[in-house]
Amino acid sequence: MIFSQVTQAPADPILGLTEAFKADARSGKVNLGVGIYKDEAGETPVLRSVKQAEARLLEQEKTKNYLGIDGVQAYNQAVLELLFGKGSELIAQNRAQASQAPGGTGALRIASEFVMSNTQSRTIWVSNPTWANHQNVFETAGLQVKEYTYYRAEDHGMDFDAMMADLATAEQGDLVLLHGCCHNPTGIDPTIEQWQQIGELCRDKGLVPLFDFAYQGFGAGIEEDAQGLRIVAAMVPEMLVASSFSKNFGLYNERIGAVTVVAADTETKDKAFSQVKRTIRASYSNPPAHGALIVSTILGDETLRAEWEAELTEMRERIAEMRTLFVDSLAAAGVTQDFSFISTQNGMFSFSGLNKDQVARLKDEFGVYIVGSGRISVAGMTKSNMPVICKAIAAVL
Ligand code: PMP
Repeated sequence: MIFSQVTQAPADPILGLTEAFKADARSGKVNLGVGIYKDEAGETPVLRSVKQAEARLLEQEKTKNYLGIDGVQAYNQAVLELLFGKGSELIAQNRAQASQAPGGTGALRIASEFVMSNTQSRTIWVSNPTWANHQNVFETAGLQVKEYTYYRAEDHGMDFDAMMADLATAEQGDLVLLHGCCHNPTGIDPTIEQWQQIGELCRDKGLVPLFDFAYQGFGAGIEEDAQGLRIVAAMVPEMLVASSFSKNFGLYNERIGAVTVVAADTETKDKAFSQVKRTIRASYSNPPAHGALIVSTILGDETLRAEWEAELTEMRERIAEMRTLFVDSLAAAGVTQDFSFISTQNGMFSFSGLNKDQVARLKDEFGVYIVGSGRISVAGMTKSNMPVICKAIAAVL
């Protein structure tokens, strides 16, 4: 017998919370843990553009034959254009290639495995704090994870100088994980000037950026949110991108993302991409089709694309509205502490500054679930659950 030696795995810090939430019998409970968009009614409906694309696919689909290792080609091309922009020099130079991947997580894992199997690089730098699964994915692939400073608790801001100082100690060939936009969990992104400096540092020190791009369109807009990535891409010879369309297409359970390789020239890119495909072949052979076909159908059709952009704008604006309402409602609940910083953060999350004990009390006494780091999913707030949330926070402060 070999399984008797196996020890119990700890609950996942985010998905474990959802399990605990589901098991909670209290009626007024609120889940602000996992990053899932909810509309004003507290639902996560299928986007209208997605429903229309699916209707077309159902009608037109003729086969369930295997896709190639790298998935749907029209999808991969659409991904490149979302990342680098239509008419991008990088695309014209044929220095970038995308492969469909099972979600952003799958893309991060493929990128890590590709690096481990084909390069000398063994270290990846991630921001402190970062998405709870990053370390897990990278370490499981065999990479050593180091942290660079990102957040300054005193003023709820970004400690850019400390970030640059930490990254200055990185060695040539080290990977640097950068959140393309809507930094998870802090909601604080570098400015254009800061992206420029990050690009310079990576270029000068020979560091390889790995962009995690899971929230395009949730910050300021589809093009705006890609600015940092495009600035850095124009400065460095090589980089990797892990895209996710879980949030911006609401395709959470379709597991649709992409891993993109950028290299110094076409020949190097082709070789690298052939190894990315080899990594995929050894992991899951080839990807499922549905999510990629939805995305490529929407992006390839003017009307559907316009509908999707409108829906994305609607999601972004509702979250922004909830941020303001959250700050106002905390004050109305009698909180005197300044939470105005929440309204300047980007994306789905707010890094509240609540400590572990306060987070535990929110859950135990009030049925309000947030991640242990104090990260709150603003995308899960609605006008109707807001008073419950703010009253609970006011009580634990
Ligand atoms: N990166 C970040 C920063 C995320 O927040 C998430 C999703 N929570 C992912 C990657 C993974 O996305 P997916 O669900 O597509 O695997």
